[in-house]
Amino acid sequence: MSKELAQLIFPHVTLTIEDLNKKYPARKEKMVTRFAPSPTGFLHIGGVYTALINQRMAHQNDGVFFLRIEDTDKKREVAGSKEIILNVFDKLGMKINEGPTLTDKDSGLYGPYTQSLRKDIYHVLAKSLMEKGLAYPCFCTEEELEQIREEQALDKAMPGFYGKYAKYRDITANEAKKLIEAGQEYVVRFRVPNDISSRITFTDLIKGEISMESNNNDIVLLKTDGIPTYHFAHASDDHYMGVTNVIRSDEWLASVPVHIQLFEALGFEVPKYSHVAPIMKLDGDSRRKLSKRKDPESSAEFYLETGYPIKSLFVYLYTLISSNFEEWYLNNLDKDLTEFEFKFENMGVSGPLYDLEKLNSISSEIIYSTPLEQNVSNLLAWAKQYNKEIYTRLNSNLELVYSFFKTQGPDSNEHRKDLYNYSMFLDVFGIFYNDIFVSSDNSFKTELYENIKEEDIPSLAKSFINLFTEIKNGSEKNLKNLCDELGYTNKKKYEKNPELYKGINTQFYHALRIMLTHKSSGISMDDIILILGYDEVIRRISIFA
Ligand code: GLU
Repeated sequence: MSKELAQLIFPHVTLTIEDLNKKYPARKEKMVTRFAPSPTGFLHIGGVYTALINQRMAHQNDGVFFLRIEDTDKKREVAGSKEIILNVFDKLGMKINEGPTLTDKDSGLYGPYTQSLRKDIYHVLAKSLMEKGLAYPCFCTEEELEQIREEQALDKAMPGFYGKYAKYRDITANEAKKLIEAGQEYVVRFRVPNDISSRITFTDLIKGEISMESNNNDIVLLKTDGIPTYHFAHASDDHYMGVTNVIRSDEWLASVPVHIQLFEALGFEVPKYSHVAPIMKLDGDSRRKLSKRKDPESSAEFYLETGYPIKSLFVYLYTLISSNFEEWYLNNLDKDLTEFEFKFENMGVSGPLYDLEKLNSISSEIIYSTPLEQNVSNLLAWAKQYNKEIYTRLNSNLELVYSFFKTQGPDSNEHRKDLYNYSMFLDVFGIFYNDIFVSSDNSFKTELYENIKEEDIPSLAKSFINLFTEIKNGSEKNLKNLCDELGYTNKKKYEKNPELYKGINTQFYHALRIMLTHKSSGISMDDIILILGYDEVIRRISIFA
């Protein structure tokens, strides 16, 4: 009877389970993991986070990590998504062992690695379930489904498709044939075995032992167009692609009872599950998920576009993933990150808080300790790809770029860490380019006059000019001498006898900084003067004289 039904629904299926078993033999690797994004045109940083766990777990166990594109929801699909994912992975240096490539050809023997191309596999499996009485065609119309919902509301029964509400559960081949001939559409539903126990217990490698109510819902396996639902594709693919460990977002945790039922009904070994909690953000007093709509930092591409060193992003993600990473990292700064060993038991059960300030602080430390040549080449590579204007500017005077980075490294006069990504380059160093300096707004004047009386500025500027002219001509004098000479002293002395002094020394230096940079903070005065050179220093001050 079931065979007849299966033959009626799947007349086109010629392959058998044996054929699939032959085509996709069991793998030898101890651990096989995958990243399985839907092609929505957007790679969330949470996706990179989950992918990273999958990749590191597989690779540290000499296993395989592959990419699978889950495009069964055609309404959500955005063209070019595969390219975005591959491109980001490539830029992040995240090696994928198997999966789609930028050409039409996949790499790996367990493909196709795109679900819409695996339809024949799903149909072989759905047919075999139907033959075993574990699946059936369901002809419910929208109206009938609505009716069931109403009935359940009246009965105060759980919503879903089960028991007496599962109208076509016991449909015969003959009845089905008539409906098909009448042109009625149908889905294929799972027929939940009658003998299931009421609860299911399983071990999640991150969350521990979990006990849940069993599924009694005859879920859809194949939609009206023959495309599988996520649940059915998950069991089919993860089995025939040899996945040992399913490490995925914890929005799927509630579906595990269905998934285990499906693996068992298909006669497949259930993979080990690890559910990863989503990355959260503090919004006022409450926590929420990092949102694609509200938070630019939720996009993986954001980090490439703004020029964070890859290492910075990885150090931060590793910190979020594993509670013991930070300590390891601080003790092993010279080691490659891949030497850190991830363990499921060190991964958090609840979602970590995403904190850009923490990433920025990690990143400024990393830029600071990056060798000069490398920093310059990172900056150029970033600008070449993401900001042609800056790229041209940098190349017009590379010497200048080197002198900037000399102020940011361990050999600098003052150990500054101004940069945490390369796109802030002009915010920090723009003032050294005359066109940017000249076009800065006039708010600096207000700040200047707050410290030094407006009428005193020209004479102070003249004193600066004289000093720098003398220094340029070989004098040993320095700023400190001028500061003393003009009567600026430290705050304490000034406050004790204000009548004896002109002002406080910080006002003196602050005025000079503003004249030279139009900003009230930034890299050290020595570095500013070194980079600008005396002629430019004098030229910039003369505007105030
Ligand atoms: N396509 C699913 C998603 O993007 C994948 C879930 C999984 O990894 O199994 O949520």
